[in-house]
Amino acid sequence: RAIAADQFEHSNDTRESRHDAVQFEGVHKWFGNFHVLRNINLIVQRGERIVICGPSGSGKSTMIRCVNRLEEHQQGRIVVDGTELTNDVKKIDVIRREVGMVFQHFNLFPHLTILENCTLAPIWMKKIPKKEAEDIAMQYLHRVKIPEQSHKYPGQLSGGQQQRVAIARSLCMNPKIMLFDEPTSALDPEMVKEVLDTMVLLAEEGMTMLCVTHEMGFARQVADRVIFMDCGQIVEANTPDQFFRNPQNERTRLFLGQIL
Ligand code: ADP
Ligand code: MG
Repeated sequence: RAIAADQFEHSNDTRESRHDAVQFEGVHKWFGNFHVLRNINLIVQRGERIVICGPSGSGKSTMIRCVNRLEEHQQGRIVVDGTELTNDVKKIDVIRREVGMVFQHFNLFPHLTILENCTLAPIWMKKIPKKEAEDIAMQYLHRVKIPEQSHKYPGQLSGGQQQRVAIARSLCMNPKIMLFDEPTSALDPEMVKEVLDTMVLLAEEGMTMLCVTHEMGFARQVADRVIFMDCGQIVEANTPDQFFRNPQNERTRLFLGQIL
């Protein structure tokens, strides 16, 4: 029995079961002389949903873009799913496959159909056969509730629909972590909800999510922690309940006063 238990333990001792999703340790970054990230420390557990808010220019985008190496940090450590981000290009590739990202502007390829947008990376980066990639893409387009749009081009869709395609496209790579950078802030108000609904669904399925957003209703509904950034620092991190009811920092209070 002891041996069996030991083997069981061992078989569970994979990268998967042991590591936090993302770990920032004393991370600093400069753009030239401008100190944009100042000693960022944050551990994101697997399955955790984090909402990041804060004034424009506070470093929110830069911080999450460091997770998939769209930006490079200069000091400290960033570990994603057990792999530290260094200049090792192979490791960067591994991490990029595990981390999906959705931007404010949907960044769909305008000359490709919705289906082609969703199958491009799986076919070329993951070498998944075309037919299989299309089946997977259709499943995700169903999940974001626009399978009937699959043969149209991005320009024929509304902003909300395009953003849902962008989410589906990311999911087709089967990421372990999803980054969202103000995914609803470029949308007309009537389209915000359909995108947030998709994100709520994803959260309920247990996806690890880092979302930069000022949608505080969304934060209340799904976030495990809300983080407030200002001037390149994490000023406050707390459960939504505490964060909104009892913000500890004066800057947080000021910010919430402006947006709520
Ligand atoms: P946020 O997402 O919170 O609005 P950002 O992370 O986009 O903030 O930017 C933080 C600061 O860094 C801003 O002052 C911005 O102008 C500056 N910045 C962002 N990207 C660059 C860049 N590529 N080169 C120089 N400065 C940049
Ligand atoms: Mg930003």
